[in-house]
Amino acid sequence: MTATSRESWQVLEFPGATGQGLLEAGTGRLESTDPTTLETVANVGVSEIEHVDRAAERAADAFRTAPWRRDPQRRARVLQRYAQALRDDIDSLAELLSREQGKTLFEARNEVHGAADMVDYYAGLARAVYGRSAVLGEHVNGVVVREPVGVVAVITPWNWPLTLLMRSLAPALAAGNTCVVKPASLTAAVTIASLEPLVADPEVADGVVTCVVGSGATIGDHLVGHEAVDMIAFTGETSTGIRVMQRAAEGLRKVALELGGKSANIVFEDANLDKAVAGAANAVFTTTGQICTAGSRLLVEASFRDRFLEALSEHMSGLVVGDPLDPTSSMGPVVSANQQRTIQNYIDLGAEEGTIIAAVEPKLDHGYFVAPTVIGDLQIDSRLIREEIFGPVLTVQTFEDEEEALALANSSEYGLAAGLWTTNLDRAWRLGSGLEAGTVWINTYHHFYPEAEVGGYKTSGIGRQQGIEGLHEFTETKHLNFDGAPTLW
Ligand code: NAD
Repeated sequence: MTATSRESWQVLEFPGATGQGLLEAGTGRLESTDPTTLETVANVGVSEIEHVDRAAERAADAFRTAPWRRDPQRRARVLQRYAQALRDDIDSLAELLSREQGKTLFEARNEVHGAADMVDYYAGLARAVYGRSAVLGEHVNGVVVREPVGVVAVITPWNWPLTLLMRSLAPALAAGNTCVVKPASLTAAVTIASLEPLVADPEVADGVVTCVVGSGATIGDHLVGHEAVDMIAFTGETSTGIRVMQRAAEGLRKVALELGGKSANIVFEDANLDKAVAGAANAVFTTTGQICTAGSRLLVEASFRDRFLEALSEHMSGLVVGDPLDPTSSMGPVVSANQQRTIQNYIDLGAEEGTIIAAVEPKLDHGYFVAPTVIGDLQIDSRLIREEIFGPVLTVQTFEDEEEALALANSSEYGLAAGLWTTNLDRAWRLGSGLEAGTVWINTYHHFYPEAEVGGYKTSGIGRQQGIEGLHEFTETKHLNFDGAPTLW
């Protein structure tokens, strides 16, 4: 993609409406901005409290009255068609995603593919929401069935707005729920664009999927506390997740929480050097570091430190931080001025407290860019090592043996993911078992599959998404007990 296509962009409009269609919104508008050019990408209708009420009530009506919850074949057909629609629309969705979020076009296309793949996977599972049966005594049988929970509020962040949306929305719909989506404002336009073909499907009744847009503190909070909402699937910061859980507790609503991370990426001297170096860079620089599973704490065997960091610095000299629509860029800007400021403050603190080992200067002098940076010689209690930076900042620590590696890796309050690079199978098994993380990648990083569950230990979340467990999250379990004995006792 060239600069010409930037010039030819037409600002998109997603006005919304009241009482009908996908987006429940009033006359207010939210301007979505390109973090590279700071130009307007789209104008999106903003919801007021009354729109949240209406969206939740429409979803509840659809759950009660529409055939959706009782017709798995219909749900499978709809989700199959939806996956295909996302693939058919990949060029425009990926470009909008790249412009609105700042990720490279390459990554944006991967994200759309990943989102479609997620929908496809759950399209199949819509017809396999199985329970089980058991003989419980003479003439007594139990049938355990899985039923949809009801109305699910799906609240999403801005870093992977399509994949993370589909990861909750697709299983929730496959299980027969109806959904109200509340995207992050920064990526509201691409979220709505991605949902339009779903809601346009003739087999999707009004209210099965609606969307509200606005501030998390007001619109999101009202949705979480709404009496028509039965469950909240939330992805975002740990502190917000705690707030969501507290609010949901007022109505004893079910929650699934996918929260923050500070993942360790552990490299042993027996690792394949080239693969581990590329893996360490991918672990922390994907999405310009704005990824919950970022391998942002490099733990490297002390005897291997210098050789590894030399190779990593060499690898980083080939990174291009520039226009995300330019196919030669490896990284784009971060999503907002706020995010840029926060990350830069951490880098400045790292320069004061430790040593900058490597950094790559961005090519452009405008836009919300930050330099991907590797920082060593920090104290173990440094904020850079403890806190989620959510940017392209890698801290380096060393260890002498497996025991120390494990202790350092597990010393975080988070437990979302970890990486492990070794050719010693026994060691991989020992450490893989000992790591307190929902996903442990061994000799790879950031490979996700709809079939495989993800989720957090410790403060990284509650529940699991993806896979069969990701489907079951969105169900209630009911035991139907049949007693055919001639007398009660
Ligand atoms: P955030 O917590 O600020 O916002 C997430 C969503 O919650 C947004 O839609 C926001 O508007 C909404 N929200 C905010 N306050 C709310 C409230 N009181 N009630 C209801 N909704 C509210 O997170 P973010 O900045 O958009 O995303 C970055 C964070 O998300 C990072 O911490 C990252 O690790 C985490 N994340 C986790 C995963 C995962 O799978 N575990 C995936 C991606 C991102």
